[in-house]
Amino acid sequence: MDRELACEIVKDLLPLYVDGMVSDVSQKSIEKHLEDCTDCNGVYHSMAFNLEKETQPSEVQDVKRFLKKTKHMYLFYGLSCLCFIAILVCMIVDLAVNKGITWSLIVTTAVIFADALVYVLSVCKKNKGYIAMAVVSIGTFCLLSVIQLVRYYLMDAGTVWIFRFGFPIMLLWLGILWIPMLFRAFFKWNIWDCIAVFMVLTAVGNYITKLITGDYVWNDVLRVHNFMANALGLVIAAFVFFLIGRVKKWRK
Ligand SMILES: [Zn+2]
Repeated sequence: MDRELACEIVKDLLPLYVDGMVSDVSQKSIEKHLEDCTDCNGVYHSMAFNLEKETQPSEVQDVKRFLKKTKHMYLFYGLSCLCFIAILVCMIVDLAVNKGITWSLIVTTAVIFADALVYVLSVCKKNKGYIAMAVVSIGTFCLLSVIQLVRYYLMDAGTVWIFRFGFPIMLLWLGILWIPMLFRAFFKWNIWDCIAVFMVLTAVGNYITKLITGDYVWNDVLRVHNFMANALGLVIAAFVFFLIGRVKKWRK
């Protein structure tokens, strides 16, 4: 065979040869050719070197991913141990001082709440914001209930405020946080419009909170200058965010 033609054929086959995809007969001929031909041998070596370089990063990435995972794990276990010790110390002090579990129950709930939030944020890859909000919602509910339980029933202090004030105000403000997030999730609103809605809802929420606590009666809305100034500021801020959203959209 013409030597030039042989070289062309070998070079054409080299990618398959490097991947180990050629027949035994072809493999032997190619090896024999590579021994005699420095030109083809050079091409073969650069090809094999590039292949090695291509495979290396994925292995490096695997190791990095493993290390990151281990780091997360240790961080979480470390945090859990620390929390456990804190809870234990609080309970011992509580038992010694109050002859029972009282305020340490509040500390325990708060620590578990914080731990759950950290865990969820480190484990979840997608929809972190929504999942964190769900944990915050459930956690707030538990924490308020435990505070009421401990103060009124275990410590004989204060009054029952949770049904009259606690839950209504909690639901109101969780709703104010959730509504813009749900608008973003379901109607694909941009972040600026969501902030604008949040600002307007905050103004409304301030007023309803005052109604719940009994500081205002329903028709005070136009008479309380303090509230009006506050609400006006929030509405103007909302309008500015709304405008930023329009400008961003227009520039696209
Ligand atoms: Zn050759």
